[in-house]
Amino acid sequence: MAKIGFIGLGNMGLPMALNLQKAGHEVTGHDIFPAAIEAATSAGLRVDAEGSVQNVDIIITMLPNGKLVLEAYKTILAKAKPGTLLIDSSTIDVASARTAHAQAAAAGMLSADAPVSGGVGGAAAGTLTFMVGGADDVFAKAQPVLAAMGKKIVHCGGAGAGQAAKICNNMILGISMIAVGEAFVLAEKLGLSHQALYDVASTSSGQCWSLTSYCPVPGPVPASPANNGYRPGFAAALMLKDLMLSQEAASNAGASTALGSHATEIFKKFVTEGHGGTDFSGIINNIRDKSA
Ligand code: NAD
Repeated sequence: MAKIGFIGLGNMGLPMALNLQKAGHEVTGHDIFPAAIEAATSAGLRVDAEGSVQNVDIIITMLPNGKLVLEAYKTILAKAKPGTLLIDSSTIDVASARTAHAQAAAAGMLSADAPVSGGVGGAAAGTLTFMVGGADDVFAKAQPVLAAMGKKIVHCGGAGAGQAAKICNNMILGISMIAVGEAFVLAEKLGLSHQALYDVASTSSGQCWSLTSYCPVPGPVPASPANNGYRPGFAAALMLKDLMLSQEAASNAGASTALGSHATEIFKKFVTEGHGGTDFSGIINNIRDKSA
């Protein structure tokens, strides 16, 4: 069992850290937000800023963005012992992820980018999917630790490949949710019931995760946020963050992503209009309003 520092004990980080502890690892957490520290302490996690970085074998970061990850790395790289395995599970831009890898290598550390999908429910249940970027030997070391927090661990390639996989996947998700929302609104206009469209499309060529696991209208998929007032789930603000990362990457890499770009604009407007805290499948209500 390893000594693990866990930095960023928010909605995702705390349940992930608790699962590592449950698996028998010695975990020390750190956060800068007093309420997060309090929640971690009352859940039974040891919290200590110095202890999360010094004399640990592995440091996992779960932070909001690339700028904060690189800031945290300044302290980590100065204080952690050489050879420490650094795993960044935040969703961040590919360029920052690659910078973090380069800085870690220069400081004699091992590093992996390992963003996740599966949301807060998956973090609590230990069923996250990890998309990992890094060298083969680093992946071999990280895999058993990640397995305590997730059920699928995919080695996507070298530095930054995990983040690349995450934003490509979430660009599909953002676009497909809009497509499914448009199809249901069109069905309403044509007098076709939600259930009839669902029964056909879920077993036809329109089938996709946004329809069959996360259906944006109440009824056909009882566990989807549409049945729960569009409470997240996966908030529209986070969907927008990931779409913006995809567009930044597309622009840097010279990829033409016309639908990704359009989906980003649609979610930007939705969030600007005050719906950042709504589940992203609530975009259907915006499509319906525009169709009125
Ligand atoms: P969150 O805002 O709930 O948690 C982030 C935590 O990091 C906060 O508690 C904050 O105080 C802490 N923090 C910020 N700067 C810090 C620093 N310098 N040192 C220590 N702690 C610091 O966010 P979250 O929902 O847990 O998401 C974390 C990451 O996971 C994000 O990159 C997000 O995009 C990604 N993600 C989230 C979900 C989801 O459903 N919430 C799903 C997949 C991926």
